[in-house]
Amino acid sequence: MSVRTAVVTGGASGIGAAIGRSLAADGALVAIFDLDGDAAGAMAASIEETGGKAVGLPVDVTDRAAVDAGVEEVRARLGRPTILVNSAGLSVDGPFLDITAETWSRALAVNLTGTFDCCQAVLPGMVEEGWGRIVTISSSSVHSGASGMAAYVAAKSGVVGLTKVLALEFGRHGITVNTIPPGFIDTPMLRRTVQRGFVDVGQQTARTPVGRIGRPEDVAAACAFLVSEEAGYVTGQVIGVNGGRNT
Ligand code: NAP
Repeated sequence: MSVRTAVVTGGASGIGAAIGRSLAADGALVAIFDLDGDAAGAMAASIEETGGKAVGLPVDVTDRAAVDAGVEEVRARLGRPTILVNSAGLSVDGPFLDITAETWSRALAVNLTGTFDCCQAVLPGMVEEGWGRIVTISSSSVHSGASGMAAYVAAKSGVVGLTKVLALEFGRHGITVNTIPPGFIDTPMLRRTVQRGFVDVGQQTARTPVGRIGRPEDVAAACAFLVSEEAGYVTGQVIGVNGGRNT
């Protein structure tokens, strides 16, 4: 199989970091896009320490010019990206009537429009290659709803819809597009939500059928399958990784 180049947004932390490591271990050349360029660089360096090939770039997914420049730099340094994992995300919570226009717009900009822009930046190259794999990271909250998370759940629901449409439009080009909606994964984002008193780890563990909190590596394992050669007939799907919390 040819060596693939992958872009992982939000790849300096949590789920994106585990996905970047796993893709590199499977032989892909990995570009980490993250808000924090130093953290992205450190993640790339840690991948290289274990024998992989990676670059880390400061790319804010809400800045289309930065996304396009990032993809161009990846093409020059690692080759044309044919794998994209959209893991950059922003969790916002609070009562519906307190949501400001600014908070609403920011939640949509990072989670939904950022995913749109990254997909649009890499898809022409994937079409030329006649091969591509896109995995969006949505949220199990789109199945269940989540009280106090209207902006986030609305944005992530949009990500699921976008994923399904892209699967229909690009399937004939050898490109698959799937979404993983994770639930209750132990990452800095979840820990911040716990600190705000919005999630109780003990209570949530008790209502999780497998009886534990998820690990970023649980999500990375599903992602590794979805970007594989063998997954070419799996597209437009919602592949939950949530310990059985949503079925
Ligand atoms: P995380 O540890 O906070 O990682 C998210 C990364 O995305 C961080 O490095 C963050 O940078 C970066 N990021 C945020 N805004 C960005 C932007 N505009 N441009 C580029 N990078 C940006 O969170 P995580 O839990 O791994 O989340 C990964 C994805 O899973 C997110 O889309 C999240 O919504 C989704 N998710 C997670 C869970 C869970 O249980 N953990 C559940 C459902 C869905 P900063 O740290 O500097 O902000």
